[in-house]
Amino acid sequence: MIRINDNYLNLQDSYLFSTIAKKVAAYTKENPDKKVIKLGIGDVTRPLAKEVILSMHKAVDEMGEKDTFRGYGPEQGYDFLREKIVEYDFKSRGVDILPEEIFVSDGAKSDSGNIGDILSVDNKVAITDPVYPVYLDTNVMAGRSGKYNKDTNKYENIVYIPTTAENNFVPELPKEKVDIIYLCLPNNPTGTTLKKDELKKWVDYAKENKSIILFDAAYEKFIQNKDVPHSIYEIDGAKEVAIEFRSFSKTAGFTGVRCAYTVVPNELFGYDKDGNKVQLNKLWNRRHSTKTNGVSYIVQRAAESIYSEEGQKQIMENIRYYMENAKIIKEGLKEAGYTVFGGENSPYVWLKVPDGLTSWEFFDKLLNEVNVVGTPGSGFGPSGEGYFRLTAFGTKENTIEAIDRIKKWSK
Ligand code: PLP
Repeated sequence: MIRINDNYLNLQDSYLFSTIAKKVAAYTKENPDKKVIKLGIGDVTRPLAKEVILSMHKAVDEMGEKDTFRGYGPEQGYDFLREKIVEYDFKSRGVDILPEEIFVSDGAKSDSGNIGDILSVDNKVAITDPVYPVYLDTNVMAGRSGKYNKDTNKYENIVYIPTTAENNFVPELPKEKVDIIYLCLPNNPTGTTLKKDELKKWVDYAKENKSIILFDAAYEKFIQNKDVPHSIYEIDGAKEVAIEFRSFSKTAGFTGVRCAYTVVPNELFGYDKDGNKVQLNKLWNRRHSTKTNGVSYIVQRAAESIYSEEGQKQIMENIRYYMENAKIIKEGLKEAGYTVFGGENSPYVWLKVPDGLTSWEFFDKLLNEVNVVGTPGSGFGPSGEGYFRLTAFGTKENTIEAIDRIKKWSK
């Protein structure tokens, strides 16, 4: 008899993006003459940088020659890429990371979801709320949560740490002891960041409680303020308590190309059932080399190209383009009388929906009355209710038009 993983039955269907898609499709069908502008899903719109394309072409040509053809590569990633990552993403910020601590993969989604493979199901998990939904769902799948409670919109046995306007989006340390802590900074969806002293509190907490911080820095390249750390390893001692996820998706427009990496420092240890220390780098290496054959040579060459002088220039142009959109959204909404957050160190603007409306009611009004699509905050967790996310990943023309419509509508 085939027994299933019952934990999957405990998952709440994530209706978020499929519900959005259905509502937009229904509206468009009924109103074919209306131009709907989508500032909802966090996917990029700028094409890949020229340097990336050149490197990919070159790598494709190499694959067609018998002397330069490559088959399976190292599961953890090619040295040429791991060495560039070490130098440009870490050494340049005063952080010493070794190539062997870098694991190249197809995405920060898979890595942040799969990391639980090497951690016991008995660990107590804390997530900030609202946040990227993958952390919660993958822990439900693994059986680390209790049952879902309809009334609270929360799972038992998961510690939700609210980040809202009331606490200025700065998460408070959990009152109870937790073992696994997810931090997503800059945050999706709120767009907020933590300064070094604020992040240090989490590192200290993790050290004191023998906890691990799973630090998702997928939006690191969007940080503009000089005093915001780009990596958790900029905090002393973080290598003993944190794993960091990075992605080329938003950094370099790789959402469709697929490339990311995870840093598992050698100093980071977990404990077995007898309390013996076990190096997590070894476990992740074992897991990674058993379950994947890595990322294609062509894609890794493409990723490597963003670290060249020209590559950096080109990807930063795209980042500036999106950050200009974020400014347009943020300033425009403020002028229209909205209370807005984020958008300064991240491509997401997080707004408070007008009084008396839920996130979904605001979604419907915005779609039906101004034909603009965003994402209801409640889709990111219970504390997202009453908020709404707009992304800066659209085209500049569409962003300007969408914000103009909202401004006129709100008068
Ligand atoms: N982490 C966060 C916080 C995200 O918002 C996203 C995508 O939206 C990802 C990870 C996914 O990254 P990747 O495309 O590398 O899987």
